[in-house]
Amino acid sequence: MTLEMFYQKLLNPPKPWVVSKVELSEDGSRVDVWLTHEQYTFLCSVCQEPAPTYDHMPERIFQHLDTCESKTFLHVRLPRVNCPKHGVKQGVFPLAGPYLDVTYKMEAKCIQVMEACDRSAASDITGVSWERQGSIMKRAVDRGLERRGDAIPRILGMDEKQVFSRHRYFTIITDPLNHSVYDVITDGRAMKDITHWFEEHKDKLIDVEKAAMDMSASYGSLAVMYMPNAEICYDHYHVIATMNKAVDEVRKSAQAKIVNEEDRRMFFRSRMTFLYGEENLPDHLRFKFEKAKSISAPTARAWEIKELLRGLWRVTPEEAELVAYFKKWFWRATHSRLEPIRKAAKTLKRHWAGILAAIMNGISNSATEGLNSKIEVIKRSACGYRNKDNFRTAILFHCGKLDLMPEMGR
Ligand SMILES: [Zn+2]
Repeated sequence: MTLEMFYQKLLNPPKPWVVSKVELSEDGSRVDVWLTHEQYTFLCSVCQEPAPTYDHMPERIFQHLDTCESKTFLHVRLPRVNCPKHGVKQGVFPLAGPYLDVTYKMEAKCIQVMEACDRSAASDITGVSWERQGSIMKRAVDRGLERRGDAIPRILGMDEKQVFSRHRYFTIITDPLNHSVYDVITDGRAMKDITHWFEEHKDKLIDVEKAAMDMSASYGSLAVMYMPNAEICYDHYHVIATMNKAVDEVRKSAQAKIVNEEDRRMFFRSRMTFLYGEENLPDHLRFKFEKAKSISAPTARAWEIKELLRGLWRVTPEEAELVAYFKKWFWRATHSRLEPIRKAAKTLKRHWAGILAAIMNGISNSATEGLNSKIEVIKRSACGYRNKDNFRTAILFHCGKLDLMPEMGR
C-alpha cells in the first residue's frame, strides 16, 4: 500500500476529493497531504445547489488533526463555481471553511479544549497557534450568537464588572434563569456609555418581565426607559454588596483611629475577614477575625448588622413576614451610630420594593455569583484579553451557553 493509499483510507475525504500526494518530513513530525478532485460540479457556497466549476483558487493549507502524533496539513486548491443564480462563488469544501486555516475537525477540537482549559493550553495540546485559537474562539462565538438569535431572556440581569484597572467597567447582561451571559457591553457602566445597547435591542426589551440589577441610578433609569413592563428586582448579591461596602467604610475609618501599632497591623491584615458571611468564614481565619472584632467594636457591630440583614433570605418568603423583618432591621441599622451603615440602610429602604420582588420571585444570586467567579477566572488567565473585544468574546465563549461547534465538525 502506498502512502497515498494509506492516507486516502485514513482521512477518507468525502467524494470527489482524493489524496494525490503525501510528504512526510525528515524527522516524521509533519505530514503534508495534497487533495485533488476530478469531478467538475460542486455546491455553491451561497445556495448549496450544484454548479459547474469555474476555476480554482491558489493553494490553501489547512491544519488537520494529528496523525500518529505528526502535525498534519491538507493542501487544497479550492474550486470556485459558476452558479446560475449567484455567479462565480466559492464552491463548498466539506473539510474546512474559507475563513480559518484549520479543518472543521481541528476547529471542533480546539473549541473543546479551550472550553476545558484556556487558549494557551489549547495551543499546547493541539499545536494550533495561540493567535489562531483566538480566531477560532471568535468564529465560534459569532456562530453561537447567530444560532441563538436575538430573543431576549424573560428575566434579564444587569451587572457591572470591573476589568483590568480601577476605572474600567463592563456591563454584563445575564440570563439568570439559564445561568448564562447574554451579552457584554464593553463601554462602561455610565448611562451615556451603554444606552446604545439598549437602543439596539429596544424592540425586544419591551418583553422583559423582570430586570435584576444593582442599585445604581443608571441601570435603574435604563430599565424604566427600555423595559417598561419589567418588574425591577435587587437580588441578594447586590444587596449584600451594598452592605459590604458600608462595613468596609466603617472598617477603614476605624483603622485610622487605632493607636496601638501591633493592633493596627493585625486589624489591617484581617480586613478581608469582615466580608465573609458567618458560616462561610474559613476555620483558619476565625482566630484572626475574632481578634479583629475585639480591636474595633464599631466594625464588629457593622458586620453584625450586615449578618442580620442576610437573615432576610432565611425568612419565610411571605410578604408580611419579610416586611416585618426588614422594618426591625432598618430600625437597628439606623440606630447603630455608624454613618455608612445608616446610609446603606436608607439606600436599601428606598429600593425595598425591588428587594422584596427579587425574594418573592425567587431570583437567587447563585447565577450572578457563579458567573462572576467564572469571569474572574477568565480575567486571570486573560493576559491576551487586554483588548476589550477579545475579552467580550472570551466571556461569551465560556459563559454564554452558546452552540459553538462548526456544523461539519460535529
Ligand atoms: Zn448559488
